[in-house]
Amino acid sequence: MNGEPDLLIGGKWRHASDGGTRDIVNPADGSVAAVVDEATPDDARDAVASARKAFDDGKWSATPVADRAALLDRVADLLARDKESLAELETRDTGKTLAESRIDIDDVTSVFRYYSRLAAVESDRIVDVGDPAVISRVVREPIGVCVLIAPWNYPLLQISWKIAPALAAGCTMVVKPSEVTPLTTIAFTRLLQEAGVPDSVVNLVQGSGATLGPALTDTPDVDFISFTGGVATGKAISKVAAEHVTKVAVELGGKNPHIVFADIADSGDWDAAVDHVLTGVFLHSGQVCSAGTRLIVEESIADDFVADLAARAEKIRMGDGMDPASETGPLVSEQQRAKIEAFVQQGLSEGAKLVTGGARPSDAALAKGSFYLPTIFDRCDRSMRIVAEETFGPILTVERFTDEAEAIELGNDTEYGLAAGVRTSDQARGERVVRALRHGTVWLNDFGYYTAAAEWGGFGKSGNGRELGPTGLAEYQEIKHIWHNTAPQPAGWFKG
Ligand code: NAP
Repeated sequence: MNGEPDLLIGGKWRHASDGGTRDIVNPADGSVAAVVDEATPDDARDAVASARKAFDDGKWSATPVADRAALLDRVADLLARDKESLAELETRDTGKTLAESRIDIDDVTSVFRYYSRLAAVESDRIVDVGDPAVISRVVREPIGVCVLIAPWNYPLLQISWKIAPALAAGCTMVVKPSEVTPLTTIAFTRLLQEAGVPDSVVNLVQGSGATLGPALTDTPDVDFISFTGGVATGKAISKVAAEHVTKVAVELGGKNPHIVFADIADSGDWDAAVDHVLTGVFLHSGQVCSAGTRLIVEESIADDFVADLAARAEKIRMGDGMDPASETGPLVSEQQRAKIEAFVQQGLSEGAKLVTGGARPSDAALAKGSFYLPTIFDRCDRSMRIVAEETFGPILTVERFTDEAEAIELGNDTEYGLAAGVRTSDQARGERVVRALRHGTVWLNDFGYYTAAAEWGGFGKSGNGRELGPTGLAEYQEIKHIWHNTAPQPAGWFKG
């Protein structure tokens, strides 16, 4: 950015080896927000080699855990210091509102603080083998060289869920943000250096995943690949990595049900339920892996509930995320808007009833950006593609149910299993339903929240790993059993 090199390899910032660059577009107005270096496969190979060398020299993994924890805390301090500039950069790159970007930076800060504390916790386990002369210990060690690949919807947030535990565990890494939204990851990598991350421990390349992918994944020099993105990419990476028996954790898409029971009508919870369903699906224009895009609502309240939702959706203020009056921004790119438009056509052709939206906004002030109106389709059923597939945009589909068993059945009728919401004033029913749902996160009478200390991940095609929480650190660790016999050795098996 600003003519400065954007690739960090072996502790040195460089331009791409072939001089290539990429324009990064602000989706709010189509302007070029920045021009960044576009790495080549050779650059990516250099980055992997640098991370390998840094891991194999053993200095970082041998750094006392208290020092690693202190470094993570310094990163958190710098994030707090640079919160506003990072938030603005994220907004210009992704289109999300500044208020959302500020929340993202606060969340990133909390993730570093959490892993700083967790890193410092003693994790060795002593095992009683029945012989006082034998000390049997199970210890955790860094897994090694990690390749960390992130998507474009929460660029800094998603990559921090990987970088923080990887650093805490003592790993070295190559970081690859999405080609669409690399700006905060570049700025953040500079901040990691300022915090004192040693040379070559964190390497950064950005550019097309299809081009850089083989250099990052089809190699025996990588010990762990942590990937967040779409199912097709996750499968492709897993296949390539299997050739090298490289461990892979994939965090993939979602098609998340939000189940609303009729009992909310009598409990005074109606407005809050409408609010949570709206926020759950239209925040960040629906470009959220855990967006509640499938409303599953009890038949007796469905007409009124959908009418209220539509009335509220039509009042959502769209605009440039930098404008404090904007409640939601554009889609991340023209390409993403074209996908949403195709899904809307699909919904119409499948016979879903368009209640609101289904078009670009008519406001001339938004004409240059990739905006799309919040869209609600009623009278949907699970045979429709808009109900089954992740649209990753501002589209809510509505299905209706008549009893609890049907609600659960519909909620579980997806090949994904990332997140779900349940809204009821009957606490016992709520507990029954959340336990019956096969999703990685389930919100009861709330939607969208998470904490650094609790695991995040999906069932089914939503992935096979877990981020955050203690499991999010364990992903970056190998387990070693050490059997130490302190007594003179007894005779072996063979006597001769
Ligand atoms: P994507 O197209 O799969 O890309 C994800 C990342 O993989 C990008 O950095 C991409 O680079 C890179 N990539 C592409 N092909 C690759 C290859 N062959 N080898 C290595 N890397 C490769 O996904 P996306 O469109 O960016 O993100 C949207 C998806 O992410 C949605 O499905 C969403 O649900 C999911 N997501 C899941 C979670 C979760 O926690 N489970 C969180 C956020 C998002 P380029 O950008 O250069 O193509």
